[in-house]
Amino acid sequence: MVSRVSQRQTEIEKDSQMGRAFAYVILGGGVAAGYAALEFARHRDGGVSPGELCIISDEAVAPYERPALSKGYLLPRGAARLPGFHTCVGANDELLTEQWYKDHGIELVLATRVVSADLQQKTLLTNTGETISYGTLIVATGARASKLEEFGVTGSDAANVCYLRSLKDADKMVGVMRSCHGGNAVVIGGGYIGMECAAALVANEIKVTMVFPGKRCMDRFFTPKIAEFYEKYYAAKGVTFIKGARVTSLEASDGRVAAAILRDGRRLPADMVVVGVGARANAGLFDGQLAMEKGGIRVNGRMQTSDYAVYAVGDVAAFPVALLGGQVRRFEHVDCARRTARRAVAAILEPADGAAEQGKKGYDYLPFFYSRVFGLSWQFYGDNVGEAVHFGDFSPGSGHATAKFVVLWVSGGRVSGAFIEGGSREENEETAGAVRRGASVAEVAAELLSRGLAFADQE
Ligand code: FAD
Ligand code: NDP
Repeated sequence: MVSRVSQRQTEIEKDSQMGRAFAYVILGGGVAAGYAALEFARHRDGGVSPGELCIISDEAVAPYERPALSKGYLLPRGAARLPGFHTCVGANDELLTEQWYKDHGIELVLATRVVSADLQQKTLLTNTGETISYGTLIVATGARASKLEEFGVTGSDAANVCYLRSLKDADKMVGVMRSCHGGNAVVIGGGYIGMECAAALVANEIKVTMVFPGKRCMDRFFTPKIAEFYEKYYAAKGVTFIKGARVTSLEASDGRVAAAILRDGRRLPADMVVVGVGARANAGLFDGQLAMEKGGIRVNGRMQTSDYAVYAVGDVAAFPVALLGGQVRRFEHVDCARRTARRAVAAILEPADGAAEQGKKGYDYLPFFYSRVFGLSWQFYGDNVGEAVHFGDFSPGSGHATAKFVVLWVSGGRVSGAFIEGGSREENEETAGAVRRGASVAEVAAELLSRGLAFADQE
């Protein structure tokens, strides 16, 4: 008699030889995958047929709202935990638990990495040896954190060095923070991860020193005046900034880092290190098979790649933005992941109206991103090109979240981008609307004034 174990073994071997076939495969199980799944279910009146759609993810859990990892997940008390932040709660929509996928006929292939893709054969090979075939593929592989090693610094694998991209990373960081209470953290990088993690570390009563090469935090995005506001606010919370500096090595013993050494020889004692030195799109599987641009996969306004059967969405996709005159852009932000995912599914399930598509300069998308740190909250819409005009109260106070200001980027007399700190929901929407229609500065100023925003400090 064949034992159960060997029967299972035979099944696995059979699976790996024959593989499974799906009409639609979503490769990657992050934000975009979750929103794409919901869009499929909605188009298919509540669910898809078994065998029609699968999601392959190397993460062990169903898609979740990644932004929670640097915010609610790191709180010392009342922290966010799964299943509370699976997609699509971030857009105030349904909570897509594993059960939801089962109920809607969508197969989740978790903890499984796709190691190669053959677009000619329409197959994906997984690290379990299975070949999965697709009719249409949606690439939603997101991005990965750049490693210190890419800058010639070793030590990423030390027990107290943290990156933050996945749930696994976040769990490591929570554990390390708990073991460092009252200690020192060195944060390498002054971008999104650096700023959000620094705030979380402060909340966990860890002293923070931030080190980055630029003249100011978020220096490719913030104006000097915006950066000054946040840096002073952070300083009031006890954060030290070392700007224009680079970490050249990490001093380690017994698998733990004890200090970060700067190029000028300074030694920063560290009980833990958090690294946020940028991200790279996970597009490598398709090198030589798909057109690439901006470090990601080039798609058209319908999110379709240079292969008609392959779509790309989220962080990995570079698409023409109609509002920016058709310029090709790649955004590494959650709103874009959600919207491009929905866009791709709609395009797949609703055949293109050729006439309507003609003449369109790309996807009608208003770039939008945001961050929340301490009690602060900012939103940005559009493109930060042109001259920046500052309005409002830029005084950081003593670290209390009462500031309210707006920065408008003006190009050709119209508002091309807007940054708003401390805006109400209505003000944020108003600002977004103004950018979308390319309002004049005077118009936006009048609207914001009528809503009570004090223009105490116009440049
Ligand atoms: P991801 O969500 O990264 O998902 C990609 C998925 O593909 C992952 O599950 C990955 O494991 C999987 N994958 C990759 N390669 C393979 C493979 N070969 N085989 C199988 N699976 C694979 N944006 C904002 O606008 N506001 C925020 O406040 C904000 N906060 C953030 C906080 C953190 C900590 C991080 C890391 C990002 C944050 N972002 C924020 C950015 C936002 O989360 C991303 O833009 C968004 O997650 C992109 O979605 P995605 O589906 O394209 O990629
Ligand atoms: P960012 O690109 O935002 O920032 C990278 C930072 O690292 C910059 O300050 C950069 O400085 C600095 N840097 C580059 N090289 C070095 C180096 N060798 N040593 C020290 N610092 C260096 O990337 P993050 O890592 O912060 O974020 C990763 C991803 O996560 C991005 O996709 C981001 O969009 C996403 N994310 C988004 C959030 C949001 O939208 N709110 C929140 C959290 C993450 P310089 O600019 O001077 O080159």
